[in-house]
Amino acid sequence: MRVVQKFGGSSVADAASIKRVAQRIVATKEQGHEVTVVVSAMGDTTDELLDLAQQVSPNPRAREMDMLLTAGERMSAALLAMAINDLGHTARSFTGSQAGVITSEKHGDARIIDITPGRIESALEEGDVVIVAGFQGVSQSTKDVTTLGRGASDTTAVALAAALGAGYCEIYSDVDGVFTADPRIVPGAHRIPEISYEEMLEMAANGAKILHLRCVEYARRENVPVHVRSSFSDKPGTWVKHIDEEDSV
Ligand code: ASP
Ligand code: MG
Repeated sequence: MRVVQKFGGSSVADAASIKRVAQRIVATKEQGHEVTVVVSAMGDTTDELLDLAQQVSPNPRAREMDMLLTAGERMSAALLAMAINDLGHTARSFTGSQAGVITSEKHGDARIIDITPGRIESALEEGDVVIVAGFQGVSQSTKDVTTLGRGASDTTAVALAAALGAGYCEIYSDVDGVFTADPRIVPGAHRIPEISYEEMLEMAANGAKILHLRCVEYARRENVPVHVRSSFSDKPGTWVKHIDEEDSV
């Protein structure tokens, strides 16, 4: 089966984490799946790049900001491919543009218009693990590199899962899934094993930082099952999927 796995910034924060994530990816590949991975920038890299830009220029052009910020995801993608290659598997990293993520032209907040995953398809057919830099694409009209908004690597992952006909999309972060309340604040809060797209949309719209809003909209439209889980454990997380009203209580 084809699967897409997305690893957030906290899952690839340093060299050791990148090697750990590489092992998880290889394990999925060794189960016989064709694996496409989407990565975020390492740790706080995006914030650091934003801060650096401010120190250089008070009012940078949006085009240059996107050139700068997309570099963060490109670093983690290349490093992750190296770590996978060291585990005896072949991996190839791609920028959003190389992966065929075609967007509108609005820098900093571009929308995905189309995915043309030809290069990903051939790499998968050749047996490679594909690593795609998240949260970025290329504008159809200007041909410039764009970013999709903060947190949008989730959206990249679901969009690729839909375009590749993947069976599901896994979104890895440092939380064990979707909870009834914040377990750090509310004792007795528990993990929700399954949630509908509609309920998840409502949570995202109300500011829950679990999944990017557009990612959930995309998943619902394309009917991509999304498994939200932690990269720090093997525990099952929360499945966000189509749930028939009549079946639910
Ligand atoms: N690195 C980007 C951000 O911090 C995109 C992402 O992580 O999804 O917003
Ligand atoms: Mg995120």
